[in-house]
Formats: sequence, structure tokens, C-alpha cells
Amino acid sequence: MYDVIVVGTGFGGMTASALLAKKGYRTLTLEAASELGGCAGKFERQSFRFQAGATLGMGFEEGGVFSQLFHELDMSPPPVHLLDTIMDVHFSERTIRYYQQKERWFEEIARQFPKDGAAIVRFFEEMFSLADAMLSFVYKRPIVPPKTIKHLFQAMQKADRKLISATPFLFQSIAKRLQHYGIRDETFIAFLNGQLVDSVQTTVERCPALLGAVALSIFHRGAFYVEGGLSNIVHTIAERYKQLGGELRMREKVVSIRKQRHWLVATNRKQTYEAKHVVFNGSVHSIFAILDDSIKRTFSIREEKEKKRPAWGAFTIYIGADDDLQTDSLYHQFIVDRTKPMSEGNQFLLSASAPFDRQMAPVGKRSITISTHTEPLHWWNRHAYDEQKKMLTEQILQRVNKTFPLTNIHVQLVGTPVTFSRFTHRAFGKVGGYIPNGALSLLSTYSPQTNIEGLWLCGDTVFPGAGSLGCALSGWIVADGISASK
Ligand SMILES: Cc1cc2nc3c(=O)[nH]c(=O)nc-3n(C[C@H](O)[C@H](O)[C@H](O)COP(=O)(O)OP(=O)(O)OC[C@H]3O[C@@H](n4cnc5c(N)ncnc54)[C@H](O)[C@@H]3O)c2cc1C
Repeated sequence: MYDVIVVGTGFGGMTASALLAKKGYRTLTLEAASELGGCAGKFERQSFRFQAGATLGMGFEEGGVFSQLFHELDMSPPPVHLLDTIMDVHFSERTIRYYQQKERWFEEIARQFPKDGAAIVRFFEEMFSLADAMLSFVYKRPIVPPKTIKHLFQAMQKADRKLISATPFLFQSIAKRLQHYGIRDETFIAFLNGQLVDSVQTTVERCPALLGAVALSIFHRGAFYVEGGLSNIVHTIAERYKQLGGELRMREKVVSIRKQRHWLVATNRKQTYEAKHVVFNGSVHSIFAILDDSIKRTFSIREEKEKKRPAWGAFTIYIGADDDLQTDSLYHQFIVDRTKPMSEGNQFLLSASAPFDRQMAPVGKRSITISTHTEPLHWWNRHAYDEQKKMLTEQILQRVNKTFPLTNIHVQLVGTPVTFSRFTHRAFGKVGGYIPNGALSLLSTYSPQTNIEGLWLCGDTVFPGAGSLGCALSGWIVADGISASK
């Protein structure tokens, strides 16, 4: 019998597994896919490596989540490079260079937005200060929302004065803060919409101020290129997990989770494993397919509500090409028409491998991942599928070619929500956590600790949310929670 079974090797699951193994728990981690990392996984074609989804690293600065995590695990992180430019943001008429250092970013704001510049800087200063308050709380890994009086008490102890002074912002959106500063510049608002959609899945109107503050600050704490891709972070953690005695079984999909005296976890290999705790790292909406009916009945998260919760899908293009990019920036966001929604190819991120990164591409070549947000349910109509895929690919590549004519393409592959569902086992290919539905949406977050004893959740659909940092923290909160339980 195991102490803990972890289902999935995304950032959440792998973090929980390694920390638990370090604490001496007998841990089994099961992964359905043949690759680690889920949405931050990789695959190889010809001599190129492609990042399946996540490409931009964070949290490696001093005090950052991954710096702390690697320290906790007594290991070195994979090689990462601090970026001077987070990304270039291309509009039809101009390009904004999004600098990592605050001072340089403020100079760029003054250059780009001479009229609203001073107000925009004040807006960013406010965002940075709100993010400080939020992150100093979140980095202490509270169990939020609290499940018991003890959790509530612990969370209150972790809240400091800065967080308390930020509480009035709990009821405001980013749009409200822009209004407060009298900022109306359409290009700047489109810039914010692009950044927010990419990190927290929504735009200024529906983005809670505190969540938006974290999203708009996090890269200014540190934005990193990870050599060999973000999956190298997961691989490094997995290696340490195995060294610590943790068991990892790949290509073994969990098909049912039930409870008798202990948890019984059955897999497609006709194996049933027993454990005191189960940690599910798939998205919450994917758990219902494998959770036993008797548990579903007492589970505080309801299947019907969960199925309806809106989330994005990802449409991705993977290109292995000659190095024609002629730019020193590795990340490029394109906003085709600033008045249109930030999805379906109207907004997309192009991430290129660094010219020196031999894990990603041969000399003189680059591995490129392009991703845009898409409505996942539209991709399940078989008749429309091929046409839809072709049209969106052409539309995106047409825009890319205007800025970066790619002359010699060696590999080109496309991923849709159907592909993501197949390789990351997320129902309907919904990725990136849930879409916030307004200023108060922070209050409807799920806790990593469920109401069922011994059943835990981690990953981008639970607190503190999506992205490599949020997911790793959720896994860490689970590891803390399990070690605090009897
Ligand atoms: C296109 C795209 C771009 C992104 N860009 C960035 C970025 O630049 N930077 C960033 O920080 N974040 C980015 N993100 C977000 C980030 O990738 C995710 O939030 C994070 O990787 C999700 O991790 P997770 O812990 O939720 O696990 P997931 O990635 O969902 O992985 C879960 C794992 O569990 C496995 N699993 C599920 N069900 C079962 C089962 N029944 N049995 C066994 N195994 C199972 C899956 O196969 C999978 O490997 C991006 C996401 C996408 C989709």
C-alpha cells in the first residue's frame, strides 16, 4: 500500500509527488501519456523539439516559487535565462516592447503613450503593489478557500497588513481601476487585454483587480527562457522524485477512483493500487469520468455545474524552420485587430527557441510554437474540423509572414482542443484553468483540499490557479496538507 497516489505529472502533480517523496511518503505517480508535463510537455519531430503549450518561464528569481521549490528539494534548476524583453507585442501599426525591468518598461510606456503615460505608470505602480500584497500571502501557501476553522485561522495568520489593505480591491475589476486613472487609450487597453487573456484567460472588464495585478506584475519579477523548454523543469523535478524513492509509471491511465477502507485506484493496465491519499492533477472537470458514484454523491463540487464552467481551448501551430526571424526577442504576441476578441487567431503568441538552444533545434534552425485561444467545443464537429483547422492555420501564418517571412519550413504540425484532450487527458481539451466571470470570481475558486478525506486536487483549476507557478504552488499546498493530516 502507498501513502499517496498522484494522478498526473503536470506542474501540480510532479511538485506534490517530489515534495511528498522528500518528506518520506511512499508515493506512486501515474501518468496516462508517454510524456511528462501535460500542457507544459514536449514532443520531438525530425531534429526539432516542440513545446506543446507553455513556453515562457517564471519564478526563478530570488524568492520565486521555483527557486524556493528547487531549494526545498535540494537540487539545481535546469539552465534558465532572464529575459530583457518579455515579449514584443505587434499591432498592425506599431510594436510595443514589453520590457522586464520596471524602469525600462515605464520609459517604453512614456514613448508609446505620451498622452496617458503618467496615468499608465501610476496604474502599473498600483498593480505592482497589489501583487506584492497578494503574492506575499499566496507564497505562504494557505489552504484557500478554507475548509475548516483551523484553515481559516491559519489563512488569517498568513494574511499581513498589506493584504488587508488590498481587500477593497477584491470587489473591483481591472476595467474599474483603468476608469479610476482615466485611462482610455485603445491600444493600451488592447495591450492589457492581450496580456490578461494569455495569463488569466479574460480581459479587463471581467478580470478581478487582484488577479490582474498578479498577472501584470509577475513577469516584471522575472521572465525566463528555459533551455530545452519548460518540460525540462518537470523532468528535473521527476528525476529528483525518483532519486528520493518515488515510483513513476508512464502510459498508465487511471480509470477509476473509489474508496473502501483506503483509496483504490484502478488503471487501464488492469492494476489496482491502494493508498491513504489520492491527489488528482487533471482538471477538475475531468475527474467525474473516473470518480466512483458513491464519492460523487458526497463531493462538494457538482458535475453538472462543472461541465458548464467556461474554459478556453488552445489552437497551436508547431514549426521547425530555418532561422529567418531577424529579432533579438524570443516571444512575440500579435494582436491583429485591437477591436476584436482576443481569441481565434486575432491574438496569438509566437515563441521561438533561442538560437543557441541545441536541445530545441539544430544549428541555424528554430523551433517555434504559436498558440491562440479558441472555443473548445467548436472543435468536436468532425465534418467542420479539417476546414476549420486549415482556415485558422492560414489566417495565423499570413499574419506571421508579414512580420517574419518563414522561407524554409522543415516541419509544420497543428494542435487543436481535440489534440490536447488526447495528449493531456483534459475533457474537451479545455486548458488554462477557468475563465474568470467578473470581479468576484476569485471567491469561487476551488480549494486543493476537497471535502472528502484523503482526496486532493492540484493543477490549474484549483487555487491559486493557472500557469506553471500557480500549478506548482497548488501541488505544494497539497504536500503541506497531506503532511499536516494524520
Ligand atoms: C497553449 C498554452 C500555453 C501556455 N503558456 C504558458 C506559459 O508560457 N507559461 C506558463 O507558466 N504557463 C503556460 N500555460 C499554462 C500551463 O501550461 C498550465 O497551467 C500548466 O502546465 C497546467 O499544469 P497542471 O498541473 O494543471 O497539469 P496538466 O498540464 O493538466 O497535466 C495533467 C497531467 O495529468 C495527466 N492525467 C490526466 N488524467 C489522467 C488520468 N486519468 N490518469 C493518468 N494521468 C492523467 C495528463 O496526461 C497530464 O500529463 C499554457 C497553457 C497552454 C495550454
